[in-house]
Amino acid sequence: MKQVGILAVQGAFAEQARAFREAGGATFEIRQLSDLDKPMDALVLPGGESTVQGKLLKDLGLFGPLRTRIVQGLPVFATCAGLILLAEHLVDDPTVWFGVLPVTVRRNAYGRQLGSFATRGPVGDMPDVPMTFIRAPAIAAVAPEVEILSRFGDQPTGVRHGNIWAFTWHPELTDDLRVFRRFLAADRGTAQAFSSQPLR
Ligand code: GLN
Repeated sequence: MKQVGILAVQGAFAEQARAFREAGGATFEIRQLSDLDKPMDALVLPGGESTVQGKLLKDLGLFGPLRTRIVQGLPVFATCAGLILLAEHLVDDPTVWFGVLPVTVRRNAYGRQLGSFATRGPVGDMPDVPMTFIRAPAIAAVAPEVEILSRFGDQPTGVRHGNIWAFTWHPELTDDLRVFRRFLAADRGTAQAFSSQPLR
C-alpha cells in the first residue's frame, strides 16, 4: 500500500486524506520536520491559502526538504493552493515558492461572482469527472512538455509534468475517486499516466 504524506499545515488536508484512504492508499500528516522521517511514496499539497501555506512551510523548516524531494522525483498530487506553490510563475506577482512546475498561474482567476462553481468533464481518458472550483486559480500558460489532463473551456485546469500532478479544482470534494486511483496506480515519475493522447 502506498504511503501518502499529506501536507497538513493549513487548508483542505483532511478531505485529501479521506479521499486517498478511500482510494486505497495509507496516509499520514506532515506538520513538522520529523514527519519526513516516515516512508513516503507520494506527497499531497492540498488547497487552502497558498501565501499562508508557503510561509508556514518556511517557518517550520519544511520548505527546503520538501522541495529537494519533489525535484528528486517524489510523486506529488497538488490542488489549487498546492498548484500555486509549485508554479514557476504567477501572473502579476513576483512570488515563486517551489517553482518546479513549468506553468504560469493566475490566482483567484474567476473573480468573486464565479469564485466557486462545479462542472464535469474529462480528465485524460476518464470521462465526466465532477470538478469543484473554490476561489480557483487558472493556468494561464504551460510549457510544451506539460501534459494537459483537464480543461474548463479552452483553459487547462489539470496538468501533469513528470512526477507532478496538479489541478486548479478539488477532486477530493466529491465521491468520484478515479483521479486518486489513477495517481496511486501510476509508476513513480516517468510512466505515461493516461492511455489516450493528451488533450491539447
Ligand atoms: N485562492 C487560494 C490561493 O490563492 C487558492 C484557493 C484554493 O486553494 N481553493 O491560495
